[in-house]
Amino acid sequence: MTRSGGGGRFTPSRPPRPSLDETAELLHRRGLRATPQRQVIVKAVRSLGGHVTAESVFEQVRSELPSISLKTVYETLHSLVAVGELQELILGVGPTHFDTIVRPHHHLICLNCNRIQDIDPVECIIPPQQRRGFSVVRTEVTVWGRCPFCKKLRLERNDQLDSSRPPAERSRSVTS
Ligand SMILES: [Zn+2]
Ligand SMILES: [Zn+2]
Repeated sequence: MTRSGGGGRFTPSRPPRPSLDETAELLHRRGLRATPQRQVIVKAVRSLGGHVTAESVFEQVRSELPSISLKTVYETLHSLVAVGELQELILGVGPTHFDTIVRPHHHLICLNCNRIQDIDPVECIIPPQQRRGFSVVRTEVTVWGRCPFCKKLRLERNDQLDSSRPPAERSRSVTS
């Protein structure tokens, strides 16, 4: 299955793939010791880009670090979150995702294929009477739905179901 890169998407400035030296420097700058393990993990995160999970990073680094555990990958990702290199996405379902873009933005998530897409930050509009004295520090909006690919798939599936039904029933089963 191939997916064409959706046009008009929020295209954040993705951090370039650093060399090992750059990775070490980046870790130092963030106040972390540049262990070889951390360097390999940072490089893997950067090359995967977008929204990574500990599992996807683990798969990526296993060949280079055969003795690494998933737990170590988790811990490293969390320490990268702590120093502001990554942002943890709180989605409430599925595995924890780590965002390589740390500046504020929102997400569109497909309920079917779980694909996560970035969208421009939109200012959170809470009417003053509903703020309850709260000063807003951070807003993350997650919009759940169906991506164009899955929507098309669903329509095709409905068509297939339809063709096996008597014609009278067909007209009633078109959904969006
Ligand atoms: Zn989808
Ligand atoms: Zn994101």
